[in-house]
Amino acid sequence: MTIRTRFAPSPTGFLHVGGARTALFSYLHARANDGSFILRIEDTDIERSTEASIQAIMDGMNWLGLEWDEGPIFQTDRFPRYAEVIEQLKAEGEAYPCYCSKERLEKLREGQMEAGLKPKYDGKCRDMDPVDTPAGITPVTRFRNPLEGEVEWNDLVRGSITISNDELDDLVIARPDGSPTYNFTVVVDDMDMGISHVIRGDDHINNTPRQINIYRALDAEPPLFGHVPMILGEDGARLSKRHGAVGVTQYRDDGYLPEALLNYLVRLGWSHGDEEIFSIDDMVRLFDIADVNRKPSSFNTEKLNWLNQHWMRSLPAEQVAEALAWQFELLGIDTSTGPALADIVSVQAERVKTLKEMAEQSRMFYEDFEEFDANAAKKNLRPVSREPVEAIRAALEAIEEWTPENLHQAIIDTAETMGLNMGKIAQPLRVAVCGSGVSPSIDKTLWLVGKERCLKRIDMALEFIAKREAAT
Ligand code: GLU
Repeated sequence: MTIRTRFAPSPTGFLHVGGARTALFSYLHARANDGSFILRIEDTDIERSTEASIQAIMDGMNWLGLEWDEGPIFQTDRFPRYAEVIEQLKAEGEAYPCYCSKERLEKLREGQMEAGLKPKYDGKCRDMDPVDTPAGITPVTRFRNPLEGEVEWNDLVRGSITISNDELDDLVIARPDGSPTYNFTVVVDDMDMGISHVIRGDDHINNTPRQINIYRALDAEPPLFGHVPMILGEDGARLSKRHGAVGVTQYRDDGYLPEALLNYLVRLGWSHGDEEIFSIDDMVRLFDIADVNRKPSSFNTEKLNWLNQHWMRSLPAEQVAEALAWQFELLGIDTSTGPALADIVSVQAERVKTLKEMAEQSRMFYEDFEEFDANAAKKNLRPVSREPVEAIRAALEAIEEWTPENLHQAIIDTAETMGLNMGKIAQPLRVAVCGSGVSPSIDKTLWLVGKERCLKRIDMALEFIAKREAAT
């Protein structure tokens, strides 16, 4: 069997975490089985669909590396095809015009609700004699759902599901203006595109029996279905904007690596033993839709942070550096002069949770500061520090090869010569060079700041100390 899966978002907003996970599972199922992954944009709701959302969805998928093999296919390009199938169903008696007014349907609904029944179309127009066709009303088209029997499918995630046709009514497949509705277009598309596996959110589970009936009416074999459970927020309610759930590109802007978000998403509902770390290649090798959990999973930012740190440390620094460049750009920091970004990554990766923090904490490697942090300077740039700072300045100036090892040695030697412990040299030096008391190890910090900048900043610190001396 040729495996063909699809991701079929409605472009009414960003690609959010739930959608991205559905896309990932569909993508993995295709990749794991040498199949094809198709992107279809379900944009028939013209009022709610926007160009910006289409772009945001594709940007999110591109950033995550979820490459599609075919598409994007737009449903709005397929109206003639839908019209053709509607005509076919009508001609075969599988669909019929319905002239019931909104008011009648509303009344029917209210009556059923009052009687404690599930609201459902009563089939008034189902067997109407054409001679009784009311004049002056443009009808909707309804699908003639079987009255008896049941629909059964073996859900790839949930196992066997059976729904009685009793519970389904005659669904509207085309509006009075002829425009087709969701449950119908999905079937025509999945059928025409040869989709073998429909993997989607379980909010669609009630649509599946209706869709299977439409396949049958079209004499087509339904695909296999797998409904993945929803994602909950940390408070147990369905993940929504209220939880700060945002488009996946926001995660990029917040400093997450795509590798980390993918790793995080795949574990939301899928597991392989008790392993936590998966590269995309691991996922493709190990993913099996049958291992997707039936129970909803909860979003946990701490775990995402942990994975982000793991991937920042494990991927080649050059690769992480590309993502880091974006963060400097967002902060407006010019990195064209100063240390290589990959060197920043190798020093900072284990100290921060996100690339955003990494960039924020690396400003000093590219930009000079005007003032020392008041507290750090008060504590460390004191008259007693003048001599050690002068001594280390001389030692640093003499270094020819500016490497962390040589810098480390210079600090040790200076401390020894002066009979001081290393901290008495390193801490004033850190404040002098960074402006604050927080930085990576002093040798790496000096290395990244670079010789020229270091000496200039040490001079600034010596001036600061001199002013204090003069004031006492
Ligand atoms: N367009 C639907 C949605 O965004 C998905 C349809 C499907 O996967 O069958 O919810």
